[in-house]
Amino acid sequence: MSNVQNAETAPLLEVRDLATHFRSGGGLLRGAPQVVRAVDGVSFSLAAGETLGLVGESGCGKSTLGRTILRLIEPSSGSIRFEGRDITRLSHSELRPMRRRMQIIFQDPYGSLNPRMTVRAAVGEAMRIHGLVKNSSDETERVAALLTRVGLRPEAMARYPHEFSGGQRQRIGIARALAVEPRFIVADEPVSALDVSIQAQIVNLLMDLQDELGLSYLFVAHDLKVVEHVSHRIAVMYLGRIVEVLPKAALAAGARHPYTLALQSAVPELDPKKRKKRTLLHGDVPSPLSPPAGCTFHPRCPIAELGRCDREAPVLRPVGDGHLVACHLAVETPLNPPRSPSPGTPEAGRGKVF
Ligand code: SF4
Repeated sequence: MSNVQNAETAPLLEVRDLATHFRSGGGLLRGAPQVVRAVDGVSFSLAAGETLGLVGESGCGKSTLGRTILRLIEPSSGSIRFEGRDITRLSHSELRPMRRRMQIIFQDPYGSLNPRMTVRAAVGEAMRIHGLVKNSSDETERVAALLTRVGLRPEAMARYPHEFSGGQRQRIGIARALAVEPRFIVADEPVSALDVSIQAQIVNLLMDLQDELGLSYLFVAHDLKVVEHVSHRIAVMYLGRIVEVLPKAALAAGARHPYTLALQSAVPELDPKKRKKRTLLHGDVPSPLSPPAGCTFHPRCPIAELGRCDREAPVLRPVGDGHLVACHLAVETPLNPPRSPSPGTPEAGRGKVF
């Protein structure tokens, strides 16, 4: 295979057995510190121009995973390859040129914007740091063009973050991330704090930017409907691990893991024909300080097989084209037999409105 072919087919990002463990507590009177397994052996890859949606309940480790990939949190073990280079152990100075191509959009852009900086200074700062502008007038011109691209007026440059609405602030956060011409963006719950009508606008903006610039996204969210709309593939995370990965087209009819099925059944559905029987999960997500033995989902799983599920930890296994599941029973028998999409349904494509 030629180098060109290699470059075209090589994933932009490859994560292998990534773990992020934190020490918690400990001390003279409290005994040995405990280990929080926030991310516990995660592997996946992401192609150029692709969106992988990462979904799961609060506290499942998805935001920690996103930040670990960017090395904003140091990994405990495993590897992260970006553009073919292992960045897991690069020093901060070695990492600096790579940072430009790996950015993050936060849930709360207000928290990430300096309230004393004008929008021009906030968006232009990163361009200056990375030497992407020749002089001040070049910077002004580029900031104005970026603001226009994300749907704000260039006059917004002179204003401060508190003068904007939540949706406008998220547009500023997106402009700031784009300022350094990234290839990969972790979108960390970028619409969770916004009104539903504004959510659609921001999601559609991110999708347009992807089409235009060939960006790759790791789109982190707890709302399965939003993730399904925006993603090409979906990874479902539970207690620090990915339990199912599947193409977006397979989610509606072919998801197999009992946790994915429970998340799906909780999504409100107006069409009674599409409504699924609600699967209630008992109890809360267990503490990552002491995850249950075997399958960590077994205390809440409605079909757990005791003697097996509470002893053997399932691993991700292929069950179809690009479809992986970590469940002893779902690998053997589909728990949710696939149905054919009705003619004309957009299950295989991405629309612009959800
Ligand atoms: Fe449920 Fe067992 Fe599958 Fe885990 S391995 S999801 S407990 S059936």
